Amino acid sequence: MKLESVNERGASKPSARRVSGRCLCGAVELEIDFPAFWAWHDHSAASRRAHGAAYATYIGCWRKHAGVVKGQRSIARFEDANTESTRSFCSRCGTPLLYERKRSPSSLKHRSDRAAKPANHPVASAETLNGSVKLAAGERRILTALAQYPEGRSKVQVAVLTGYAAGGGGFNNYLGALRSQGLIQGDGDKIRIAEAGIRALGSWEPLPTGSALVDYWRNRLGKAERLILETLTHAYPVGLNKEEVAARAGYEANGGGFNNALGRLRTLELVQGRGELKASDNLFDSSSM
Ligand SMILES: [Zn+2]
Repeated sequence: MKLESVNERGASKPSARRVSGRCLCGAVELEIDFPAFWAWHDHSAASRRAHGAAYATYIGCWRKHAGVVKGQRSIARFEDANTESTRSFCSRCGTPLLYERKRSPSSLKHRSDRAAKPANHPVASAETLNGSVKLAAGERRILTALAQYPEGRSKVQVAVLTGYAAGGGGFNNYLGALRSQGLIQGDGDKIRIAEAGIRALGSWEPLPTGSALVDYWRNRLGKAERLILETLTHAYPVGLNKEEVAARAGYEANGGGFNNALGRLRTLELVQGRGELKASDNLFDSSSM
């Protein structure tokens, strides 16, 4: 559906501005509040099939800010149980109209990212001729982490969220590439996703946080590292001294195995503190939201 006209219906509130669009045959007309959150290119197999095109560009807005002006009865809906999404189209001319996604309540815990997430928003689709930016998997992962936290994250936080070592070459190459393309902005203390980054990212799934993030890390660690991290995440937010950690994890506090593993966890910034060791706050986060 092509969004065509902007109507001024009162200057007092931005939300009083509405943008309308219609299907090919004119049976259905939709309206959304202007401006929408954002637009993104969706290359998913489902969108390619539904639109019969290489990709579709969506405009995101809250459900309550979208309405059917006319032709409600001409709208056919397809509910995809797997993805809990609904696509609607004009039953007469076949024009795709809306794509609505529902999220499980558990993933709504990222409170501040509402404006950044395509999930929960019904969208009017619009055709576009624009090309898209090709992203490496790691770049995509980093952009996803930053889209989850539009207010910005430190470099270390981004590394922990994406499963990279903050000082690692791969991670820093990705950051450099994203920065030079103007997809992210800011420095080590506060890296933020840029508008261009949001557009380049397109549709995305949130990365795990909390216990799911700890699980994710656990699966990528050696045995000693895993046992140490488990010990510290069980104790979190309480810290433990080195001897206690070693005893609980089943290692000698002075042994090489234990200290090498601890060193690696520190390098990954999954463990913080010197005298008293603690699992990284970045794994648990909620405080900074
Ligand atoms: Zn139609």
